[in-house]
Amino acid sequence: MLNLDWSHLPFGYVKTDYNVRCYYRDGKWGELEISSSEFINLHMAASSLHYGQEAFEGMKAFMGKDGKIRVFRWEENARRMESSANGVMMAVVPNELFKKAILTAIKMNERFVPPYGTGASLYLRPLLIGSGARVGVKPADEYLFMVFVTPVGPYFKEGFKPVSMMIARDHDRAAPKGTGRYKVGGNYAASLSAGEEAHHDGFAAAIFLDAREKKYIDEAGPANFFGIKGNTYITPKSDSILPSITNKSLMDLARDMGMEVEVRPVPVEELKEFDEVGACGTAAVISPICRIVDHVTGEEYKYCSNGEAGPVSTKLYKRLQAIQYGDEPDVFNWNTIVE
Ligand SMILES: *Cc1c(COP(=O)(O)O)cnc(C)c1O
Repeated sequence: MLNLDWSHLPFGYVKTDYNVRCYYRDGKWGELEISSSEFINLHMAASSLHYGQEAFEGMKAFMGKDGKIRVFRWEENARRMESSANGVMMAVVPNELFKKAILTAIKMNERFVPPYGTGASLYLRPLLIGSGARVGVKPADEYLFMVFVTPVGPYFKEGFKPVSMMIARDHDRAAPKGTGRYKVGGNYAASLSAGEEAHHDGFAAAIFLDAREKKYIDEAGPANFFGIKGNTYITPKSDSILPSITNKSLMDLARDMGMEVEVRPVPVEELKEFDEVGACGTAAVISPICRIVDHVTGEEYKYCSNGEAGPVSTKLYKRLQAIQYGDEPDVFNWNTIVE
């Protein structure tokens, strides 16, 4: 057993034993290779470096009380990576290769899967990049798909704590018909300045509005946005947001709990009507939001009066985590047990 301070691991990179790689050359995928190196050998003219031909995924595996490792909804991540690959003209990773790569990466690094009860998990990072040399602007003819894993601690070390966010009026993350719906690095590059500005001013993240009209909520930093109004779970519909698998799962849980679910444009003014709001994604599951500041209109929206997350967000968070760790029956068939 590895001696790591599991409960205090950051959401960061920890070196593990192995990663897996596979190259696409001459129109086909090669054999999956296992490597113990943290480095890749890449042509300096690779299309990923110059023209942003790259996509990634983020997913988790959890150690259960029963000693079994569960991967959460990997088929959804595989499908999304396919969509991202098509979005920036890259070779698509076949489902079987994706599955084999993540399962191999987990099994080869089994000693890094955090023990049950620590709140930690194993984060998986599949990555697809254009590795072929390109000087003219054109898709590459060679691609590298790899998966590395890293143990990550519980996102909220002091428990499930609400955060403050600011509305990014001076920045856009993605254009209406651009690449916002793909999980590609370029969207992150475009969001870094807004994020750093928000951090500098003491906010956890910047909330992006639709780039065309600046009227509707798009995303909450690198996460999807949702609001709770009475018995309804509301989340934005937009061409420029990344379809979060956590959000999709929360919608299923909300329906299962007897709530209504609405996926539609969410105007900024509606912020004053919500009982609870939050950001959702693999890293934190839910980041409850207690305060949203709009510096341009001077509005300040407040939630969770006692500094605690609201009851609906808390219930959704606990139920999703319970399924992920195998504490509750996997009624939606979301988990794949690593054997
Ligand atoms: C990855 C990501 C999310 C969250 O998606 P999950 O599948 O829930 O992890 C949300 N927004 C953006 C921009 C992302 O890149």
